[in-house]
Amino acid sequence: MARFVYQLAEITGNYFKQIVMYSETHPSRVFKFCPKCGSPEFKITGPRSFRCSNCSFEFYVNSAAAVAALIFNAEGKMLFTRRAVDPDKGKLDLPGGFVDPMESAERAVKRELKEELGVEVISLKYFCSFPNEYKYSGLSVFTTDLAFLTEIDKISEITPMDDISAIEYIYPEELNMEELPSVSMKNIVHEVIQFRKNDKKQA
Ligand SMILES: [Zn+2]
Repeated sequence: MARFVYQLAEITGNYFKQIVMYSETHPSRVFKFCPKCGSPEFKITGPRSFRCSNCSFEFYVNSAAAVAALIFNAEGKMLFTRRAVDPDKGKLDLPGGFVDPMESAERAVKRELKEELGVEVISLKYFCSFPNEYKYSGLSVFTTDLAFLTEIDKISEITPMDDISAIEYIYPEELNMEELPSVSMKNIVHEVIQFRKNDKKQA
């Protein structure tokens, strides 16, 4: 459970008191030692910054980029994947994953769809993004999830692989949001529903 933690930090010689709410898995609660010299004098100095007073190493918690593919079949139903692994094993997700270091978001969509569904991407169009807190291995990883409208080659030849047990086509408007545990994926699907509504109005 989240609880309030008082942090007393020294910044440019002045003391200030800061009230920050951190979950148990926030890096400020998980990281105990300097990753460079191993000293326990590795302290949080701001909402997302650490500093080691032993070796002066500074560390920032940044958002990691991740991608999600929005794929529609001929009926206008959207492709969802069933997760084969934890977290949220058995629940729905969108195809995609983390962007590798030094990889573009577009390249990441292409790689993930090859790995997860065994298909090639024909075209990609950026749609929207939402932030997320992804808890893995007892650590909160903050992400920026970028969604792309994605056309794929040979949609009928999709083969669930990697960390996916099955795929399902569902009208986004009919999706039970309880089945989609990720907050950012819920927001992305909500944005798709709004987009389709406006599309119908204009048609
Ligand atoms: Zn250090």
